[in-house]
Formats: sequence, structure tokens, C-alpha cells
Amino acid sequence: MSGRLVYLDNNATTPIAPEVREAMMPYLTNLYGNPSSMYSFAGEVADGLKKAQASVAALLGATPEEITFTSCGTESDSTAILSAVRTFPEKRHIITTRVEHPAVKNLCENISLFTGHKYRLTQLKVDEKGMLDLAEYEAALSDDTAIASIMWANNETGVIFPIAEMAKMAKKRGILFHTDAVQAVGKIPIDLASLDIDFLSSSGHKLHAPKGVGVLYVKKRTPFTPFLIGGHQERGRRGGTENVASIIALGKASELAATHIGQENSHVRALRDRLEQGLLARIPKAILNGDKDNRLPNTSNISFEYVEGESILLHMNRQGICASSGSACTSGSLEPSHVLRAMGVPFTAAHGSIRFSLSVYNTQEEIDFVLEALPPIIASLRKLSPFWKEGL
Ligand SMILES: *Cc1c(COP(=O)(O)O)cnc(C)c1O
Repeated sequence: MSGRLVYLDNNATTPIAPEVREAMMPYLTNLYGNPSSMYSFAGEVADGLKKAQASVAALLGATPEEITFTSCGTESDSTAILSAVRTFPEKRHIITTRVEHPAVKNLCENISLFTGHKYRLTQLKVDEKGMLDLAEYEAALSDDTAIASIMWANNETGVIFPIAEMAKMAKKRGILFHTDAVQAVGKIPIDLASLDIDFLSSSGHKLHAPKGVGVLYVKKRTPFTPFLIGGHQERGRRGGTENVASIIALGKASELAATHIGQENSHVRALRDRLEQGLLARIPKAILNGDKDNRLPNTSNISFEYVEGESILLHMNRQGICASSGSACTSGSLEPSHVLRAMGVPFTAAHGSIRFSLSVYNTQEEIDFVLEALPPIIASLRKLSPFWKEGL
């Protein structure tokens, strides 16, 4: 790809930070020892892993012993949920939401398949702003509930759920609580020491580390059954030789995230608001999806009525602008995203939804470029749409 690239798809994946690449490099070259080996050459690698674990723990307000590295956010989600159902095989009920990432949604919908048991699944509703009803949640908690798995922040709309309160409600009933915090980590402050969360999932590549490394937090004293059974790596919590270079990278990315978290709320939020307010002002029949206030500072999901999201992306791509329609995992199908459908967004709007997700590496110049480029794209696509004329 030549020419400029304006990357506004950071909820799909992020560029590797230069400091992160530099930190992992020695582990891709000289420091190749197996961290389980007994000589000091390998001990250096083991020390690197320990340091990374401490950096991740610091970002989350956890202790290093509570941090286990996995291969991705999806593995962390699977491990947490399957651990709970294997630890309590007599409990046959799971609570989750209708707007989870497929890593949780599809697992929960298929959990009977993986366990050989029948499960009852409660998928909590969201309102038109993407918010949950805590009364519905409280009523669903039962003695038969093995685990409640509720995402911290939604990947498509950025909407933030009241995780502290929900974890507390589960704890009161003696029910394990898991949160998919892949989109929240590094964007909003998290202090697990003060919360009743049993399991938390996070992923390296959403945080300026490489793809293929994730984190599973397991609270001290929370019962745990491993998913990958093998060697004694990760203190028996996950077999398999550690993905050393990527773990080192994730440690460095966590340190960077800790120093950037203020900027997420100032620099990134200001750019996001500039983009959002500019688009809503310049383009008629543009609607913001998701609660305006209860939201990640980097995400904006906007529906441009009577146009196809895919067509918008294609035209943006010609000018080097990257964003997504629905979520990366659902594009390719013509169904509007399950998140927007759960919110009751009308089809005419859901089909033309675009998610812009920013990072600390975006600039005001880039945002102003998008503000110039997008209005004529929407106008020209609408000229081709028979529905647009009716819509007026
Ligand atoms: C990206 C994402 C995942 C999956 O993480 P991978 O590391 O790609 O497996 C899970 N949940 C949410 C909310 C995500 O955004």
C-alpha cells in the first residue's frame, strides 16, 4: 500500500509499538533458551517472563501470581468459562449478554457440545443505547449458575458495562464472575485488587503488542481447572512452552499502556469527539450507536442511513482510511452485526454502520482528513440508493 494510511480500526487490532518491538527483539535472536531449563542462559529468559508478568499485574492492579499468559483473548475466554463449568459440573446455568464478542457468545451457545451436558443459557438484553438492565441480571443469578461472563467494554460500540457492581452481585450469591476485558485494558483504569472479579481476559494485539498472546487473570483462591493440560509451565495453569518474545512484548506494552492511560482520556477522547461531532454535523441522517457517555474514549460507531457499510469502507479504502463495518468477525456476511440488532437499530441504519476506533498514535491532521473525505463519499453513495429518495 503506497501513500498515506489513516488507521482507525484499533478495536480490530493495533500496530506494534516501536518500544515493544525493540523489547522483544533479543528474545527472537540471542535469548532463545527455554525458560524451564536449568542453566543461567535460560534463567535470563525466565527472568524476562517474570518481569513481564509483574508489568501486566501492575497495569491490572493484580499480583503477578494471578497472571497467566495464553495464546490469545479467545483462549483466555474459553479457559475461564470452561474452568467454571468443569469445576462445578452439577451447575447447569450460564449468564452472559447478547452483545458479547464471538469468543464468549459462540462458546456459551455451544457449551453443551464441549462438556457433554445440557446447559441453560441466559443472554441478557440490552436497550437501544446498548446498556444492560441490572434487575434482569440479578433475577437471573441462581444457585444453579456456574458462571456469569459479562464483557467490560463492547468492541463494536465501546459501551462500558457496570462490571464492579455486577461482580459484587455475583459474589454475594457465591457465583464465579468472568469479564472479557480485551477492549477495556489500557483504555480505562482497572484495579482488580478492589474488585470481586474471579477471571479477566485480555489480548496483546489490542494493546500494541503482537497477535497470538493473551492474558488470563485468575483471582487468588478462585477455584481453577486448566484448559491446556501438559507441562508445569505457568505453575500448572497452562501447559505449553511459553511464547517468550510475545510475552515480553505484552509486558512492555502494559508498561506503555500504564503511562498512556491519561492520554486515552485526553488526546484520544478529544480526537474521537472531534471526528464524531464533525461527521454528525456534516452528514445528514447520521446516528451515533451506543450510549454517548458510558463509552470507551477511543470508539465511535455511527450509522449512515440508506447506504451500505461495505460500500463506504471500499470508498474510504481508496483514500487510505481504515475502519470497519459491524465487526471484523461478522463482515463477509450480509447480516447486520448481532450487537446492533440486539440494540434494536433499524435495518436501514444497521447496514450503514461504521466503527471508528482510535489510538494514541492518531493525529488531529488525520481526523481532519477523514472529516473532509467522508461526507462526499456518503453523498455520492446515497445518490445511487433508491431508498435514500424515499427516505427523504
Ligand atoms: C479481539 C477481541 C477478542 C479476541 O481476542 P483474540 O486475541 O483476537 O483472540 C475477544 N473479546 C473482545 C471484546 C475482543 O475485542
